Amino acid sequence: ERFKDYPLDNEIKKALSELGFKQPLEVQAKTIPMILEGKDLIVKSQTGSGKTAAFAIPICQKIDVALESPQVLVLAPTRELTEQVKNDFADISKYKEIKCCALYGKQPMADQRKELKKNTPHVIVATPGRMMDHILNKNVKLQDIKYLVIDEADEMLMMGFKMQIETIIEKLPKDRVTLLFSATMPEDVISLSEQYMIHPENIEI
Ligand code: AMP
Repeated sequence: ERFKDYPLDNEIKKALSELGFKQPLEVQAKTIPMILEGKDLIVKSQTGSGKTAAFAIPICQKIDVALESPQVLVLAPTRELTEQVKNDFADISKYKEIKCCALYGKQPMADQRKELKKNTPHVIVATPGRMMDHILNKNVKLQDIKYLVIDEADEMLMMGFKMQIETIIEKLPKDRVTLLFSATMPEDVISLSEQYMIHPENIEI
């Protein structure tokens, strides 16, 4: 199985080829077709398995660049991970004019607000605390969000972000795809999925 044979636009295939990604890794072979079909997924997989590209590739395929409005929200536990996920989106969308931004704490809210207004991103990758603050301050338009990715869900809940995650999800359009990634599946991760996902498929790597 090769990315060449996947139902992806040439812009995406060219970027994957330049990244040296020829074949999908196991997690990607399982998730990409299902995400392209619009299914909600719960994916149990470790960091290093290729999980970022597993959601970023099909989501980049689906983004409507002409719609200048946030369409994707990725929640991640740390500043480092938000930067990494943002960079992966930028690499995969090198030949498609997708705009991504990373939002995290310890940077002035006002600067981030100005940047969001000036340069509306298609993809927002954020830590839950800072994302909640931007939502409560009405700094972001959420009505066109079609994909929510909850990355490293177990880590975020362990760090105490349950309330922030729930506050954010309550404000998102109901008509969306939700993708949850977690290395472990403790009770609180399962209950989050039961609360906010629609007939999710379970994938274990
Ligand atoms: P992640 O689990 O998302 O942190 O990814 C782990 C590493 O795998 C990253 O350095 C990616 O660049 C790399 N990677 C992801 N997908 C592929 C692929 N299909 N072929 C080769 N390397 C990949």
